[in-house]
Amino acid sequence: METTKLYKNDRYLKEWDAVVTSVEKKDDVFTVTLDQTAFFPEGGGQSCDQGLINNYKVVDVQEDGEMVIHTIEADECDLKEGSAVHCSLDWARRFDNMQRHCGEHILSGIFFHMFGGVNRGFHMGQDYMTVDISLEANPEITEITYEDALAAELETNKVIWSDAPVTVLHFDSREEAEKMPLRKALAFDEDITIVSVGSIENAADCVACCGTHPTTAGQVGLVKIFKVENYKGMFRIYFEAGERALHDYRSKHNVLTELSNKYSSSIEDFPSKLKAQEDKLAAAKAELFQIKKILTDNECEKVDALLESTEEKVVVYSLQLSLDDTFNMAKRYMGSCSKLLMLYSEKDTSYILVSDGSVNCGALVKEYASFYQGKGGGNDKSARAIFTKKEDAEMFADLIGKHLR
Ligand SMILES: [Zn+2]
Repeated sequence: METTKLYKNDRYLKEWDAVVTSVEKKDDVFTVTLDQTAFFPEGGGQSCDQGLINNYKVVDVQEDGEMVIHTIEADECDLKEGSAVHCSLDWARRFDNMQRHCGEHILSGIFFHMFGGVNRGFHMGQDYMTVDISLEANPEITEITYEDALAAELETNKVIWSDAPVTVLHFDSREEAEKMPLRKALAFDEDITIVSVGSIENAADCVACCGTHPTTAGQVGLVKIFKVENYKGMFRIYFEAGERALHDYRSKHNVLTELSNKYSSSIEDFPSKLKAQEDKLAAAKAELFQIKKILTDNECEKVDALLESTEEKVVVYSLQLSLDDTFNMAKRYMGSCSKLLMLYSEKDTSYILVSDGSVNCGALVKEYASFYQGKGGGNDKSARAIFTKKEDAEMFADLIGKHLR
C-alpha cells in the first residue's frame, strides 16, 4: 500500500497522527508501514530520519517503491494493522541533515558558477562532508586551489546571508524540468523534483533532488571549507555546514586557546612563540649532544686505561648514562676489544657487552641473563642484557666473570 509522503510538502512537520498499515517481525526488530509519514527515508546521500512511533524508537527508514518502511527497535510490539499512532521526528537530527544537505547544494552551485565544476560525488560523514568537483566541462580551468575554494566558500556564505528562498518544484516530464537552469543533467524522465536556491533567473543552485531542505538559505547558517585534495582527477572539497560548522569552530578555537595560554601568548602570536620554543629546543639538543660527547670521550679514556692495566678477561665499567647512550659509547669497542667489556647503564640497570668476537656476547646473554630475570640478546661482537633490579644485574656480571675466568 502506498505511503503518503508528508515530508514532500511540509519540511517542518515534526508531529503527526497516522494509521498502521502493516507490522512485520524481522529477526530482533519490527518493520512498520503507515498510511502517511514525515520520516524521510535514507537516500541521495542524506541519512534517514529517526524519532518515535507512539513510544517505539524508529532507528531506520527505507523507501521501497511507493512504500516507506520504518524499522523499530523493541523486544515486544503491540502495533497492529489499523492501529492509530502518534509519530514524532528527532527534529535536531533532521534539521542537522537539512542544514548540511542544503549547504552542500549551495556550495556545489557556486563551484559550478565560478569554475564550471561539476559535483560528481557527495559524502556526508560524521566529522565532515565532501564533494568531488570535476572540471571536465571547463578546459580553461585545470585546478581548484585552496584559495579558489576559499573564494567559493565566501560566495556560498553570501548566498546564505542573503537568506535566498529555497524552492522545490515538481515536474511531470523531463522536457518541462529541463527549462530550469540545471547544473547537472537529469537522471529521470518523469516525476522530477527540482530544488532551487534563489530566484530562477539568477539561481545560486538549481538541481534535481528528493532530499529535505530548509525553506531559506539563511537557515544553513554557515559553510566552512577545511581542505582541497586531488582525487582521481577531480578535486575533493572537505567542508562542514550549519551547527556542525559552529561546533568545529568552537573545538578548534578551544584547542588554540589552550595551546596559546600554555605559551602565555595570544592566538595571533602563538605561531611565532612556538617557533621561538622550537629554536630553543634545537639549541638545547645541540648543546646536550656536545656535553654527552665530552662526557663519553672522558669515560672512554678511563675505559681504555682500565683495559690496558688489567689482565682480567672481563672488564666491567659503570656509567651514569642511559642504555642507548651506553650503547653509542660501546660502538667504539665493537669488534676491536680483545677482552669482554661490560658497560653498565646505572640508569637502566642493564649491560652492553662488547668484544672482538673471541667471546660470543650474544650467546652469553642468551645463556645467563634469564637466570636473573634478565632479557636481551645480540651477536658475537655485541649484545644487551636488560634487568629490572640492580642486584640481578650485578649477579649476572659476577656469573659471567666466573664463567670466563
Ligand atoms: Zn537536495
